[in-house]
Amino acid sequence: MVKNIAVIRGDGIGPEIVGEALRVLDKVAELYGHTFNYTDVDMGGCAIDKYGDPLPEAELKKCVDADSVLLGAVGGDKWNDVPGHMRPEKGLLRLRAGMGVYSNNRPAKIWRQLADASPLKKEIVDAGIDFIIVRELIGGIYFGEHKTEGDTAIDVLTYSEAEIERIGRIGFETAQKRNKKLCSVEKSNVLDSSRLWKKVMHRLAEEYPDVELSDMLVDNCAMQIVKNPSQFDVIVTENMFGDILSDEASMITGSIGMIPSSSLGATKCGLYEPIHGSAPDIAGQDKANPIGTILSAAMMLRYSYDMTEEANAIENAVSAYLDGGYRTADIMSDGGKLVGCKQCGELIVKNLKKE
Ligand code: NAD
Repeated sequence: MVKNIAVIRGDGIGPEIVGEALRVLDKVAELYGHTFNYTDVDMGGCAIDKYGDPLPEAELKKCVDADSVLLGAVGGDKWNDVPGHMRPEKGLLRLRAGMGVYSNNRPAKIWRQLADASPLKKEIVDAGIDFIIVRELIGGIYFGEHKTEGDTAIDVLTYSEAEIERIGRIGFETAQKRNKKLCSVEKSNVLDSSRLWKKVMHRLAEEYPDVELSDMLVDNCAMQIVKNPSQFDVIVTENMFGDILSDEASMITGSIGMIPSSSLGATKCGLYEPIHGSAPDIAGQDKANPIGTILSAAMMLRYSYDMTEEANAIENAVSAYLDGGYRTADIMSDGGKLVGCKQCGELIVKNLKKE
């Protein structure tokens, strides 16, 4: 297959971690006979320096025209004093809006080799934690009317059937590519919007008979994520619940440098990025952990290109690298072998095998 990938290296550690992810993608292309063409896109602080704009229209167009987008991270102290509408993060918001991505998908996975890094008890971790939260990204209370009248503040929570249906489909389709279990999380004992949410999810379930759908109230879900996380495969939920639950879920894995994410919309052109920022404190020092970005590239292959085997090959190579005892500084523990960003990428490539 030939795929065109827009590549946003960004600021801080962005260029270092993206460089390693491309090294891994190149090896996948070689092993499986694909061609990945990369188009560099300037976004964030580097674009402000170059064009006076965090995401000029021409750069956004390169992303919209691509088959998918791989992003490192943007931002840094250097641009702290620029006016609000010009900040590096504005580029990111414009990119998400421009690509029309309404679904944010974040896996919570504990690698058995890093089990000690989790704040959860060993027996809970040993049961296996590997689930994904599909969060509605551009609706709900964050996008409703906000106003304050006298001593009363009002935030409006609205969801239409169409908005619920499109995120619901991403939930079902994600579950189809995993263990076919979908948990729909809402607060239908209190909220009308949640009752509609539940109704739409059950209507959609008839179209996805291979996926087992369950319902859970959000307060119970917050407890279950720390009490019995191995029960989950895919969770689908609305914007604010997803915001809170996905942060909770990333904490239990214990390491910010390891977690990828994807944002998807109506087309297969998704945005793939690690969940962390540009880490200016370690930028340019070959200390960053590139695994969150490398796993984002694996998500790209799985969700934008249906390259399941290739995605599995990357994830298995990461696992084999960890089995070798190699650790970047952020996940270093007693007895680990310290490596830098570059060596980490090289070792993962060495472990890449055709499945
Ligand atoms: P951060 O995620 O960049 O860093 C937090 C801490 O985690 C730092 O100590 C950093 O060294 C460490 N860290 C992060 N990623 C790492 C990795 N891959 N390997 C090893 N260590 C890693 O968060 P921050 O310091 O709050 O933000 C720094 C800049 O990043 C800010 O300008 C912020 O606005 C921006 N930011 C960008 C994005 C994005 O591009 N999507 C997301 C969050 C923050």
